[in-house]
Amino acid sequence: MAREEDTFLRSHPRSRDLFERARGSLVGGVPMSWMSLWPGGFPVFAREAAGARLVDVDGHHYVDLCLGDTGAMTGHAPAEAVAAIAAQAKRGITTMLPTEDAVFVGEEMRRRFGLPLWQFTLTATDANRFVLRIAREVTRRPKILVFNYCYHGTVDETFISLENGQPRPRPGNVGPAVDPRVTTKVVEFNDLAAVEAALAPGDVACVLTEPALTNVGIVLPDPGFHAALRDLTRRAGTLLVIDETHCLCAGPGGYTRAHALEPDILTIGKPLGSGVPSGAFGLSAELAARMLQSDEADYVDTGGIGGTLAGNALSLAAMRATLENVLTDEAFARMIPLAERFTTGVEEVISRRSLPWHITRLGCRAEYLFQPQRPRNGGEAAARKDAELDAFMHLFALNRGILLTPFHNMALMSPSTTVADVDRHTAVFAEAAEALLSSD
Ligand code: PMP
Repeated sequence: MAREEDTFLRSHPRSRDLFERARGSLVGGVPMSWMSLWPGGFPVFAREAAGARLVDVDGHHYVDLCLGDTGAMTGHAPAEAVAAIAAQAKRGITTMLPTEDAVFVGEEMRRRFGLPLWQFTLTATDANRFVLRIAREVTRRPKILVFNYCYHGTVDETFISLENGQPRPRPGNVGPAVDPRVTTKVVEFNDLAAVEAALAPGDVACVLTEPALTNVGIVLPDPGFHAALRDLTRRAGTLLVIDETHCLCAGPGGYTRAHALEPDILTIGKPLGSGVPSGAFGLSAELAARMLQSDEADYVDTGGIGGTLAGNALSLAAMRATLENVLTDEAFARMIPLAERFTTGVEEVISRRSLPWHITRLGCRAEYLFQPQRPRNGGEAAARKDAELDAFMHLFALNRGILLTPFHNMALMSPSTTVADVDRHTAVFAEAAEALLSSD
């Protein structure tokens, strides 16, 4: 690690200078605090990015497998989206009025995900926050249920975890407005008995979950888990919210369409606008009707759902171009086999070297975890996290021209990622394993 840190420091003088200067005006020297999670002591400063490539201010070229932690799953600056974004920017960015693009995007979201009625936000976080309000309003129930070590954005109610089986505020929760145990029940993913018990009192408005957990490594659902979850929620009168923000990697209609899930509500964000802030939530017809029946809830002004810039002309133009021309069926047909190749390459190194690690793939995303078995739930995945090894692997890859997502060992394939990019990562991964084994 010391060797890698030294290499990093010596080869990134311009990033280091900018970081030192930034400390005078930016908290922690970065425009957003999580950017300090990149390994090496300071982040590389980006000069430009196109497709699956990024160039930093020191002139280093990277294969970008992080892709803005899914915000750039489209590849950076995809030409079709850039043209539509530039054209719309000239015609006005935000007017508080709908544009024709909104109708196109609504219809396309309906076609892809199956839910008939849509609203647009600027982030997935906002989409999740708003649907939790709607779920509570419509069901008149106070609680929500989430799975241990889920992540759905900076949504207050979701920062809860289990310790020795007991719910508690998730470690590090910054200034919680209320103790999340007041608002939220938490159980382990894949634990249907615990879901059933938590829903039994009839006080849970909705279950909010990703189809597979993707923010604590990838935790896949057991066979039959989703059918049973849908059945349990229906029987309990609890709404089911599926967050597709990352699981869109499973296909053009996300995991929901690929596996015929039937959520009452679907939320999404990140890559929808090729990086232009965009988010959305879709509602079943029945739920939308129930929502609009209420004469007490103020959905149109200061009732707690909104955002002045939400649904703006620029993000709708970006979403339209992304759906029409970038994240197409053909793009997924290229991206998913690349992730298969990535997974096979990593698996071969793991088995050749008898490493106690594994890799899991979901659509065009793959992630390795430094534990021998696939975790069945968030608790198992979080317990075996190895922060030092994570940092080493990330820095080792970065020093050899590969960017992995700092919070995970996640690699995402974009429409412009190539076989050579994937094989380059496999070679560097093998080299890292070699370095670790030979330093014993
Ligand atoms: N949902 C999921 C599943 C996520 O992983 C994230 C962010 N990592 C979000 C929602 C929130 O996205 P954003 O921070 O863009 O609002």
